[in-house]
Amino acid sequence: MEKGTKCYVCEKGNLAKKKVAYTIFGTEVGKFEAEVCTNCGEAFFDEEVSRKISQKTKEMGLWGLESKTKIGAVGSALDIRLSKKIVEFLRLKKGEDVLVYPESRSSIRVDLVSATEKRR
Ligand SMILES: [Zn+2]
Repeated sequence: MEKGTKCYVCEKGNLAKKKVAYTIFGTEVGKFEAEVCTNCGEAFFDEEVSRKISQKTKEMGLWGLESKTKIGAVGSALDIRLSKKIVEFLRLKKGEDVLVYPESRSSIRVDLVSATEKRR
């Protein structure tokens, strides 16, 4: 990437080399070299760095936590199955209290009540 490259997102700022922390699912994977926009702060990683990030993410057990699932039905209520990976990552237990609410018209958020109370 040349110096003075315009940001691909806002198209206003210039990109400058900088080490940035890469965080996924609220966990910092590490600090990596990136091109960061001076205007909007968006960070771009090149192919090699992206590969390094993927590898580290896998090593940390953070890879593939996203998974497709189908909505099932129990009586008149619907339920969503959680993958084993997510269960292990969040250390979920049967009978645990969760707070479920729509984040938008296309997204559901589930908060663990125990974790929320600990934070307070
Ligand atoms: Zn930008």
